[in-house]
Amino acid sequence: MSKILVTGGAGFIGSHACVELLDSGYEVVVIDNLSNSSKESLNRVEEITGKKVKFYEGDIADVELMEKIFNENDIFAVMHFAGLKAVGESTKKPLEYYKNNISGSILMCEVMRNHNVKNLIFSSSATVYGEPKVVPITEDCPKGQCTNPYGWTKSMLEQIFMDIQKADEEWNIILLRYFNPIGAHKSGRIGEDPNGIPNNLMPYITKVATGELPKLNIFGDDYNTKDGTGVRDYIHVVDLARGHVDALKKIEENPGIEIYNLGTGTGYSVLDVVKNFEKANNLTIPYEIAPRRPGDIDASYADPSKAKRELGWEAQYNIEQMCLDSWNWQKNNPNGYK
Ligand code: NAD
Ligand code: UDP
Repeated sequence: MSKILVTGGAGFIGSHACVELLDSGYEVVVIDNLSNSSKESLNRVEEITGKKVKFYEGDIADVELMEKIFNENDIFAVMHFAGLKAVGESTKKPLEYYKNNISGSILMCEVMRNHNVKNLIFSSSATVYGEPKVVPITEDCPKGQCTNPYGWTKSMLEQIFMDIQKADEEWNIILLRYFNPIGAHKSGRIGEDPNGIPNNLMPYITKVATGELPKLNIFGDDYNTKDGTGVRDYIHVVDLARGHVDALKKIEENPGIEIYNLGTGTGYSVLDVVKNFEKANNLTIPYEIAPRRPGDIDASYADPSKAKRELGWEAQYNIEQMCLDSWNWQKNNPNGYK
């Protein structure tokens, strides 16, 4: 039975990936330093699936611990979610972001190579495209200028992984460029649990819905979009997690290096998301138009046809389901995992 090492497996996307992996018959080993998550998420993964997760609390940069994990477990592939991800914070703490995300990943790859485990699936982001020249975005679109250190860590790590694979073709590496993951597992037991005031749109909306925050600030209504608010490709986190299992099946075919967009292919504006959330959940979200947020772009949505063609993957859940499941998680867990 192959074991999959899930770095950052206690986090939002990682915990959903653990559920899909366990449901697909894989054994799961998690390393997480819990810097942005709680062990409770993994208890709930076990509760949802009725299966065990082997958990190591610690940092991917802790080479001794990583060696121990690879010695104790027969790992087939690594799903690499661990990383810091707050865009705003990354502009204030670039060193911490480059150290955690880049140095951590390099040390991890060295341990993988020592153990001859050369299969890797990496959480990249649509942010590597910068300001896209055309939408929908295909994987062939050139990478662009990132507007913050977080984005650069993704862009640079992609380059590092490509170079590693080019030099040693035994590596199989799949770079998954996520668009905007929202939603939660249908059980309402796992979901996104941001620290403090959320930066991202959906967790902010759900906190307005609980009354914890008074209103949503819509960052700009003068973008070059149908209603002036920013357009993004929101994707249900369970669809995203399923995409990882499909990527793992691809890894089993020794693909070398591949890049896939994971998005639905449909763009929704901020106002579309607010309206869909209100309608799906029969709630009102007070909002106000606020100034643009630095670094934001008009529109970003995927052409996901390569993932469909080559992985047989396609998003199943629509925006209504994303809004229902985001709210189901938030209302049942008003304080997240605390
Ligand atoms: P998250 O913060 O919920 O999960 C990341 C996990 O990694 C956390 O549990 C954290 O404690 C852990 N971690 C961080 N640094 C670590 C380290 N050095 N060693 C061990 N554990 C560490 O974030 P998420 O939303 O689940 O994102 C998962 C991955 O997907 C991240 O790499 C993120 O950059 C990427 N991604 C996320 C989004 C998004 O919108 N959520 C979009 C594109 C890409
Ligand atoms: N947004 C907003 N108010 C918020 C958070 C986000 O208007 O409180 C907008 C943001 O300007 C962008 C969209 O919602 O157009 C998605 O932002 P998010 O931070 O969720 O994801 P991004 O695409 O920036 O990674």
